[in-house]
Amino acid sequence: MRLCRFDHRRFGVVEGDQVIEVTDVLTGLASPSYPLPGHDPMIANLETLRPTLEGAAKSGSKRPLDGLRLDSPVANPGKIMAAPVNYRKHLEEVLSDAEIHHRNQAHMRKIQEVGLFLKANSALTGPGHAIPLRHLDRRNDHEIELAVIIGRTANHVTEAAAMDIIAGYAIGLDMTVRGPEERSLRKSIDGYAVLGPWLVTADEIANPHNLDFELSVNGEIRQKANTRDMVMDIPALIAFASRFYTLHPGDILMTGTPEGVGPVQPGDSIRAWFQSIGEMTVAVAAEA
Ligand code: MN
Repeated sequence: MRLCRFDHRRFGVVEGDQVIEVTDVLTGLASPSYPLPGHDPMIANLETLRPTLEGAAKSGSKRPLDGLRLDSPVANPGKIMAAPVNYRKHLEEVLSDAEIHHRNQAHMRKIQEVGLFLKANSALTGPGHAIPLRHLDRRNDHEIELAVIIGRTANHVTEAAAMDIIAGYAIGLDMTVRGPEERSLRKSIDGYAVLGPWLVTADEIANPHNLDFELSVNGEIRQKANTRDMVMDIPALIAFASRFYTLHPGDILMTGTPEGVGPVQPGDSIRAWFQSIGEMTVAVAAEA
């Protein structure tokens, strides 16, 4: 099943190039009282909601996806985790390009030593919104990544159990301004965490470790790889993360980018494609 969000409050099931709106299914999901939960209520209830969603998708009226302004398929993640340099060839690229690593030793070490970093939730956006670049005097790079959406609360997860806590997958763009500051600062600018075009539930992707993917800018291919080349695979990343913090439904894990990262500028158009997920085109703009 493929689930999308659009027009800020609307929720849909994607079938082919059509969307069936199922916004009403979400009524009453979120706790109406303060404090709000620290997880995403739609993802937390996904298994319970599934028969209703499937029923609504059969009877609901279809509309074309084309022209809809897609938001992040997950509205309220508790956290956005991300893996640095998780593809060997990208590590080689980082080591060889001073503009990427800025002589910061921490940026040049292996993922097993560096661990994960967090991107601010306020950076999260969907493909229907142009990425508002800041610091135009510095290099702003694209990074395409497989994004894993956690489906249930879990702590100290073993690698053997890790795949069972996944709700689904989406394409992630881990946008980055290069420079000497901490990753969590440079990668947390508003709109620098793009998730889309929709969430594909885990049952639809038998093997997430063999997916081709590709990113192009203005029609020129920049990144082209396969998830089989991850240094730490998805179970290893989940097990690692959950030794530091409890994972919650809706938490997002960006699994790292392969070689080919490069700069974008206002006016550019990014196309990101993932086998078994789909594709999205995201505009790049300057901060208004
Ligand atoms: Mn990244």
